[in-house]
Amino acid sequence: MLTVSGLKTFYGNSQALFGMSLEVKAGEVATLMGRNGMGKTTTVHSIMGIVPANSGDIHFEGEAIRGLAPYSVARKGIGLVPEGRQVFPNLTAHENLVATAANWGKLSNPWTAERVYDLFPGLAERRSSMGNLLSGGEQQMLAVGRALMTNPKLLILDEATEGLAPLIRDEIWKSLEALKSEGLSILVIDKNVKDLARIADRHHIVEKGKVVWTGSSAALLANEDLMHRYMGV
Ligand code: ATP
Repeated sequence: MLTVSGLKTFYGNSQALFGMSLEVKAGEVATLMGRNGMGKTTTVHSIMGIVPANSGDIHFEGEAIRGLAPYSVARKGIGLVPEGRQVFPNLTAHENLVATAANWGKLSNPWTAERVYDLFPGLAERRSSMGNLLSGGEQQMLAVGRALMTNPKLLILDEATEGLAPLIRDEIWKSLEALKSEGLSILVIDKNVKDLARIADRHHIVEKGKVVWTGSSAALLANEDLMHRYMGV
């Protein structure tokens, strides 16, 4: 579904990606892991066209998308849950959801606010609260819901559980498992290796702007040296 190969991205003269390559197959959950500053967010921003890559290829459903503007990438069917949530503070939870609603891919059973509330019942009770008055966990659920309202075929989550209490984190993981069972493809960037190993099919470990290891959950968990060396776990 998504294939990234040989991506090189710069901030001015400073190179952040050195030939980044990764793959997400249809219906699978893939991860991007690695220590801070290794290029995970830059990879996501390059995929989305927020920080355009200077060279390399990005194919989504067989179509070359490198160089497209972020709104075009979103319309192709990639939904981003950005690092830091970035909910609209001066809109209610419900308004946050409907503000981004779109179905460019003409999916047959499009997301509605009610479906998001079914996925996150706690959010339903807070539907009339302003974005800035929601807890961190509620804002994170809203950020996931807001991305779903664009009816993506691939959902990308950048550090979606950062700073959340374990119970809330579990709720986010449960929602991803539910979305996976509905056939959504998902790319997750996160530091909770054990949780990711439970729900993901394919892992990519990033070091200094490129993938240095890729494999299954079983292979990841069996390799303590790998986790210690590249993730400090
Ligand atoms: P984190 O988990 O801390 O977000 P990351 O793996 O997502 O880390 P990136 O944020 O992609 O890493 O950063 C990769 C490299 O690019 C780092 O060296 C970082 O300092 C640099 N970088 C990131 N954003 C910018 C920017 N806006 N301008 C210049 N350099 C940047």
